[in-house]
Amino acid sequence: MSTNGIHEMHLNLNVRGLPLSATLEINELSNTLIAQGKQVYKLGLGQSPFPVPQEVVAALQANAHQKDYLPVRGLPALQQAVVSYIERTQGLAYHPQNVLIGPGSKELMFILQLVYYGDLVIPTPSWVSYAPQAQIVGRQVRWVPTRAENKWLLTPDELEKVCAEDPAKPRIVILNYPNNPTGYSYSEDELKALAVVARKYRIIMLSDEIYGELQFDSGHRSIARYYPEGTIISSGLSKWCGAGGWRLGTFAAPQELDWLVKAMATVASETYTSVSAPIQYAAVRAFEGGETMEAYLKHSRRILKAIAEHVHAALAGLGLALPPLDGGFYAFPDFTPLAAGLSARGITTSAQLCTRMLEETGVAVLPGTCFGRPESELSLRLAYVDFDGAAALQAAALVPDDQPLGREFLQAHCNRVVTAMEKMCAWLK
Ligand code: GLU
Repeated sequence: MSTNGIHEMHLNLNVRGLPLSATLEINELSNTLIAQGKQVYKLGLGQSPFPVPQEVVAALQANAHQKDYLPVRGLPALQQAVVSYIERTQGLAYHPQNVLIGPGSKELMFILQLVYYGDLVIPTPSWVSYAPQAQIVGRQVRWVPTRAENKWLLTPDELEKVCAEDPAKPRIVILNYPNNPTGYSYSEDELKALAVVARKYRIIMLSDEIYGELQFDSGHRSIARYYPEGTIISSGLSKWCGAGGWRLGTFAAPQELDWLVKAMATVASETYTSVSAPIQYAAVRAFEGGETMEAYLKHSRRILKAIAEHVHAALAGLGLALPPLDGGFYAFPDFTPLAAGLSARGITTSAQLCTRMLEETGVAVLPGTCFGRPESELSLRLAYVDFDGAAALQAAALVPDDQPLGREFLQAHCNRVVTAMEKMCAWLK
């Protein structure tokens, strides 16, 4: 009980006991330790290491004077730019009025769960915030099992099993690819097969494609190509445009789901009103693309791919047989094969694994439990983003495109990640 007589027990039950989101908590803890003079390798928060492209920054500067409230759904020029972007990259036609701009796609996902009365169906592992959002708004979460050998992907069979239990039940499925936390994506055939199940059960498919531009082979495909009538494409500036702190997210819905966008816009109008005007004007430039944006993305992908291969090789050196990573900036190794040795050191859960690793090596990562994995599974997510992305981009531009960025490049420009992997592997051995 508090001394002023105002009781914590009056907190909404859905929120009581919920901790700060793990990604933000590990970032704050890492920064506190750094401020205390400790050496910390920040592989916890998944923040883009790359700077916001210069022309996008210039657009923000040029629009600093924009002061009016914008339409709730978004700046019309930005809605149009998002639609043109989806048309250009996926060959899909959306209407600008069905695009909703939010203060981060995270907030849009929350509002979607708030307005739609359906279960949330997500594979385990999934990103840290989907399930807590469902809990906050009082939705049921249905975790669907996956297998590490199958890249932790949601399979049509598993989805079918869940839906067949109660075919008429309304459901939102979140499909995130390239995936946070696993670093894997879906093939065209896998997307097509999932689309068949989604259509059969009239699922709302929330397709979280925020890492789409960071698929290493630049071949990202949206499931909206195969299930257009039920898919919402979610994206934003945080990952491929280096602008996490700008807080700008986008939802593009089909005309069939306009009633849903309408309900979401109502909630937006009663809560955040509209996203910061200068940020929306600047975002138009980002979604317009063009040569320099393409070069920025190409080199971002090259660098991330080189690190991913390095991380993959380091994990293979520990005896883990992982498929090669597909995109984004995460890996999700499961160290259960090393359980005997770890248990002898008093480590039997993923939380202990990550706490001890941070204490003893300075490498900050997140335990598998944050992503819906069992406590005793020794899985963790590492975000290989602790390097100076601006310097790395400049250096990568000097290496001919047909040459891979090798070990020397990584040692020179992504050294903190290389060192973090060395420390992690030495410690695990
Ligand atoms: N998406 C990032 C991550 O998973 C961080 C942003 C956030 O959680 O809000 O680490």
